[in-house]
Amino acid sequence: MKKFMLLIMLSILLLSCSPKNTKFVSIGTGGVTGVYYPTGGAISRMINKKFDEYNIKATVESTGGSVFNINAVLSGDLDFGIAQSDRQYQAYNGLAEWTQAGNQPDLRSVFSIHPEAITLIASENSEINTLEDLKNKRINLGNPGSGQLQNSVDIINSSGLTENDILAEYVKAIEAPGLLQDERIDAFFYTVGHPNGNIKEATSGRIKVRIIPIEGPRIDKLLEKDPYYAKVLIPVEFYPKALNTEDIETIGVKATFITSKNVDDNIVYAITKEVFENFDEFKTLHPAYKVLTKQNMLQGLTAPVHNGALKYYEEVDLLKYVDKELIVE
Ligand code: GLU
Repeated sequence: MKKFMLLIMLSILLLSCSPKNTKFVSIGTGGVTGVYYPTGGAISRMINKKFDEYNIKATVESTGGSVFNINAVLSGDLDFGIAQSDRQYQAYNGLAEWTQAGNQPDLRSVFSIHPEAITLIASENSEINTLEDLKNKRINLGNPGSGQLQNSVDIINSSGLTENDILAEYVKAIEAPGLLQDERIDAFFYTVGHPNGNIKEATSGRIKVRIIPIEGPRIDKLLEKDPYYAKVLIPVEFYPKALNTEDIETIGVKATFITSKNVDDNIVYAITKEVFENFDEFKTLHPAYKVLTKQNMLQGLTAPVHNGALKYYEEVDLLKYVDKELIVE
C-alpha cells in the first residue's frame, strides 16, 4: 500500500513538472562584455523567480547584437531580444539593413531600458584626438548584425569620410579591446551603455587609450537629419584609467526590449509585469540602469507596443506615457 501511494505521489510530481506545461522563452542579447547580456540575465531572473505562477522559463543567448536580434525575433528563432531604438525604427520602416526586405510590421516593442552612447575609443599612439583624425586609421566599425555598425558608418560619413578612407575592420565588440591593446587596430566604435566591461578592459591595459568626443557642427547636422540620435555624456569617472579628464560628449540611442506580434500576450504581459513590479530591485542589477524611471522606460520606443505589455500598462495607469501612435491594435 505504501509503495502504491508513493508511486501515485511520484507520478503527480512528475506530471506537475512536465515540460509540456513549461513555456520556454529565449532572449537574444549581445556580447558577454556588453550591457545587453547582463540585461537579458536581469529580465530572465525576474520571470524565472515566478516559475510557479507563470510556468515560464527564460534563457539568455549571447548574440551578434541588435540587427541579429531583430531578425531572429521576426523569424521566430528568438522570442525576445534587446535592440537599439534606431535599429528598431529602421526595421519597422524598412530602412538600412531592411531596405531590401521592406517594412517589418510584426516587430513590437515592450519597454525601453538604458541609454547607449556611441563610443569611439582610440590608442594614444594612433594620434586620434578628434573625428578629423580618422582618415587612413585602422578602425573596427562592428560586426554585421551589431547595432553599432550603422552608427559607426554614420559618424564616419558625417566626418566627411567613407568606409574606403579608413582601414575598416568588422569584428565583434568583444574582440576589439584585445586588438586595441595589441596595437592591431587604432580605434573602435561600440554603441553601448556605461559603465561596461568592454570599455573597462580597453582602458585598463598597457596601452593608454582615450575616448574621442563625437560632437561639432557636422554631428549637429546628423542630429537634425536622424531624430533618433540624441546628445549624451559618458561620465569620465567610470573609466579612471582612460586619458580623458572630463566627461565625454557624444550622441546615443536607447536599448529597447523587443518582441514579435506573434508572441503570446500572456507571456509578454507576465514579463512586463515582473520587471515593473520589481522595478526597484531591477534598477540595482546594473549601474547603467541608474537613470531609469517607469516613465522613461515607456519613452524612446519606435515600434508599436505589444498588446500583452499594453494590458499591463493600462492596469497600472502607465498607458498615459505611451505614445498614442504606438498603440495599433
Ligand atoms: N548596442 C550593441 C548592439 O546593438 C550591443 C551593446 C551591448 O551588448 O550592450 O549590437
